[in-house]
Amino acid sequence: MSYIDSKYLNIIGPQLLKFKKKGDFIWNFRCPYCGDSEKSRTKARGYVFRKKNDLFYKCHNCGVGATLGNLIKYVDSKIHKDYIMERYRSGVETSDPKPEFNFDVPVFRKKGVFKNLKSISDLSTDHPARKIIEERLIPSESFSDLYLCESFYKFTNTLVPNKFPSLDGDHPRLLIPFRDEEGNIFAYQGRAFGKEQPKYITIKLEDRSRVFGLDRIDKSKHVYVVEGPLDSLFIDNCIAAVGTVREIPELENNFTLVPDNEPRNAEVVKQIKRHIDSGYNIVLWPDSMNWKDINDMIIHGYTKSQIQEIITDNTFSGAAAQLRFVEWKKVDEGSMERTIRQERTSLEL
Ligand SMILES: [Zn+2]
Repeated sequence: MSYIDSKYLNIIGPQLLKFKKKGDFIWNFRCPYCGDSEKSRTKARGYVFRKKNDLFYKCHNCGVGATLGNLIKYVDSKIHKDYIMERYRSGVETSDPKPEFNFDVPVFRKKGVFKNLKSISDLSTDHPARKIIEERLIPSESFSDLYLCESFYKFTNTLVPNKFPSLDGDHPRLLIPFRDEEGNIFAYQGRAFGKEQPKYITIKLEDRSRVFGLDRIDKSKHVYVVEGPLDSLFIDNCIAAVGTVREIPELENNFTLVPDNEPRNAEVVKQIKRHIDSGYNIVLWPDSMNWKDINDMIIHGYTKSQIQEIITDNTFSGAAAQLRFVEWKKVDEGSMERTIRQERTSLEL
């Protein structure tokens, strides 16, 4: 057993009620998990004891068991970080996860085919392209993986020969790389800075489905699926892929679709109906929500955590989704049937 274990047990000791050393490698206190007993203030049925070379916790009231590390983490997460760090430094082998370093580890993504482009973080703060991105309130940690492309057609032709046979009307765009799990760029989206149409142009470099953010998510956790890559930057564990989500089999059913808020767009409404019929978890925004997508919500003052909360509160599936859908949609069935193809704001090439 490491002296570090007993040292840290003594450090959290003052936070444990009736904390006492009862013998060699036995400590006793009121259980912090269950509170031990409401009726009796003297009962203390939590024990830390030695087993082989480690200390463990067990409560004889609620039955909770934990490693010492998990007990410390439960009582005081700050002290737990110090504990992990000190064990790590001293070279103690530990079953606890690797220490969480208390600063953001910079992500060095390979620029790859973007090697000749400047990222938004490379631009001076008064550069117009950077200003546009800052005005959209895009999280600044994303700036290093968003790029300025001065001549979109010309640049694209260097990767996909003759994609744009004419360079007439060439213009700058923001490039958003679509990376695979290993961080390689397999597609990208060019977003217009001004009024150029279409607003989004997606270029495929490989024949695979256009899913943005595969390098950013943990597929073992619940995944959120939005429509726009930039919107996905505001939500934890989020990709942009509505429509092609079924092409990521690892997700199974562990995801929630978060479509844009367009209850008056017949085509969108029809697609949402299909998702509901497929049994997916889907967000139908409250009627009080006036903004079309997550980035617009952020610009109009919603915080990231407020949006996460609205998403949680307005996720539906199955019969509940069918019921909510009827009041949510602002187009009638007739116009859904007639579905006029809306002028598309994006183009996939
Ligand atoms: Zn307990």
